[in-house]
Amino acid sequence: MQDEVILKAQSLIANTYRRFPVVVTRGEGCWVWDMNGRRYLDFISGIAVCNLGHTNRNVVSAIFTQLEKLTHISNLFYNDTQVKAAEILINNSFGEKVFFCNSGAEANEAAIKLARRYSYRKYGGGRWKIITMENSFHGRTMGALSATGQRKFKEGFEPMLDGFICVPFNSKKDVREKIRDGICGVFIELIQGEGGINVADPEYVKYLREITLENDVLLIIDEVQTGMGRTGKLFAYEHYGIEPDLMTLAKALGNGFPCGALIGKAKYMDAFEPGSHASTFGGNPLASSAILATLNTILDEGIIPKVQAMAEYIREGLEKLKERFAIIKDVRGMGLMWGIELEENEGEKMVRDFFNEGILINCTQGRVLRILPPLTVNQEEIDLFIETAERVLKRHEEEREKTK
Ligand SMILES: *Cc1c(COP(=O)(O)O)cnc(C)c1O
Repeated sequence: MQDEVILKAQSLIANTYRRFPVVVTRGEGCWVWDMNGRRYLDFISGIAVCNLGHTNRNVVSAIFTQLEKLTHISNLFYNDTQVKAAEILINNSFGEKVFFCNSGAEANEAAIKLARRYSYRKYGGGRWKIITMENSFHGRTMGALSATGQRKFKEGFEPMLDGFICVPFNSKKDVREKIRDGICGVFIELIQGEGGINVADPEYVKYLREITLENDVLLIIDEVQTGMGRTGKLFAYEHYGIEPDLMTLAKALGNGFPCGALIGKAKYMDAFEPGSHASTFGGNPLASSAILATLNTILDEGIIPKVQAMAEYIREGLEKLKERFAIIKDVRGMGLMWGIELEENEGEKMVRDFFNEGILINCTQGRVLRILPPLTVNQEEIDLFIETAERVLKRHEEEREKTK
């Protein structure tokens, strides 16, 4: 049965993903089940999407209730669920206004357009370039892809959109040199997810905040992966003691319901007027009900303090692994977003080993194991992950000894 579905998928669906040979049909909390009833511990969470675990009851029931009441209404009309979703986002962030959309790439497109438009309205032409970071990832649409600081995603799709200046991550000097040259925005992930769990230095982020303010350049933080409690704060910028001008969200925003948002200070958001930007599905009643229920659950059920406690617990486990296994070069992250960097490009193989042991993780940059458990994970589940990691790493070490 499972093999049949896999074969069909391979012939019917565009070949854009390297997939595990498994058909997942059900999920609950930190666990998913395949067609044969085999259970897996999900430490990817749909790539930082199901932060409240799979089929969270509050989110499911909010969507279900909304589905029966009003599934969709266009943005030609007001929609009270959208207003509630905006209100909870704004009451819990630096933001003052929201633009709703459907994905991370789309939120980043909106941010790029808004930064350009703000500068255009204030200064006329000439300020439309955006500084981006090496190893960043902002999505696959042409604008977001152009902003992405990794060559491999661009191959065969050139020419890119003009006006992105890519600088080394965490280097003040490069930003200082580039910022006066027709720049309208600086775009950054505070922890680069796809780029290998690279954490921005506090000093650097403070510097970015100062220099962007001095130059009336928008500081745009991509929190598509780091937002919604992932790092042990509701949003990662809270760790840095600064406020951005714009922030983009998606992934965990609706705990699995597809949605995205651009959030910002009104001063900047007001550069959008009727007709200047839009999205048919953006903030539709279903998506809004998911956003509202997700945020209410994170806030009401004390998810953030839980993440902080579990962060400490998983960090200790990972540090112990690092002490014990020479192949681990570095362990880094925040909250429940961790990377195990290996000395060699053995990541994909190890991910397969974890999969065979019934644990789902993934690998970025060929050598960084990325760990993104649901924020509702408990100690026993973390223990299971660490014990499995020990087994996988030990086996790997023994195999290497043999081939020496
Ligand atoms: C996943 C991701 C995106 C792209 O989001 P999509 O919803 O896949 O378009 C953008 N930025 C970051 C930081 C991401 O992790």
